[in-house]
Amino acid sequence: MKTKTFGILGGGQLGRMSALAAARLGIKTHIFCPETDSPASHVAAKTFTAGYDDKVALKAFAKSVDVISYEFENIPVETVRYLKKIKPVYPDDYLLEIAQHRWHEKQFLNTIGIPTATWARACCAEQVEETLDQWGATDCILKTARLGYDGKGQIKIDKKTDICAAFASLKSDEVIVESCVAFACEISVIVARDIFGKTVCYDACLNEHKNHILSKTTIPAPLSAPLLAKAQKLAKKVADNVGLVGVLTLELFVTKDGKLLANEIAPRTHNSGHWTIDACAVSQFENHVRAVCGLPVGSTKRHSDAVMLNLIGDDIALVDKYVDKAGACIHLYGKHDVRPGRKMGHITLLK
Ligand code: AMP
Repeated sequence: MKTKTFGILGGGQLGRMSALAAARLGIKTHIFCPETDSPASHVAAKTFTAGYDDKVALKAFAKSVDVISYEFENIPVETVRYLKKIKPVYPDDYLLEIAQHRWHEKQFLNTIGIPTATWARACCAEQVEETLDQWGATDCILKTARLGYDGKGQIKIDKKTDICAAFASLKSDEVIVESCVAFACEISVIVARDIFGKTVCYDACLNEHKNHILSKTTIPAPLSAPLLAKAQKLAKKVADNVGLVGVLTLELFVTKDGKLLANEIAPRTHNSGHWTIDACAVSQFENHVRAVCGLPVGSTKRHSDAVMLNLIGDDIALVDKYVDKAGACIHLYGKHDVRPGRKMGHITLLK
């Protein structure tokens, strides 16, 4: 095995679980993130604590590792481009750029033939009004093109809404107007692709949210096999089109009339794939490490059905309920302060 040390930009739980998977393969992990005492740093061989624009620290980090990845999509593209001159960085900044900007993301998806909700760009409230007139619509969702996550940076508007005030509340002049999708459910597909071009997909899973934050993932998703296979095909299409090395996640709506509309691409491992740690021989995190470190990706076969419950804020108390239950796999992220909306851990219930 050539890669001895793997570098991750970002210190959250996704980095933590990737570092744990790397350790199982005999690979050390170095973390780079601005925060001290980060969840990933607790399980890493070394942590560089500095800002993503600190070139001296970035250079030292790059020199200390063989290959670099990132665990969240809001890493500045310039940081990745700088590091890329020193060591390989996967996934490529091309994918990162697409995933960081909803205009680029939707444009890319539609260009490769993947349907999304009807959308338009808007740089001011008047353009939102024009779009609604053109569509003959009375409602829509406005989202900031950049930096939105877990429902942040988005607002649903209808006939009664003061559009100027709604637009101003987003504090951005790059906004996407999206038609409201009357979806039956939301699903996601996680795909891994290695440097040899082999692509593997986990089974599509059903996602339920509370306050826009993922709350529960069920696998298998209770949907028809052809629909689930189609979702996997779309995720593979994205991975192949960007020449992915690593893992990406495609989030989709299933409409009431059984159509698939892509909502978002996450250029990384995903909360909806945590069940893969306990229900598959090779988890999404291991496949991420394998792909980025130049190893072949492994089988995504699932040996158990599972339900993943996110422990958000005070849900951490659920640990007491499940601690002695057969098939309950408890994962805690080592975060000390319990705050509303904070992902503290998750429990996968194997069926
Ligand atoms: P996003 O930040 O785009 O992932 O959106 C967060 C959540 O808002 C999604 O998981 C959906 O539940 C909801 N949502 C986003 N876009 C739409 C849409 N166009 N129509 C209906 N619901 C949406």
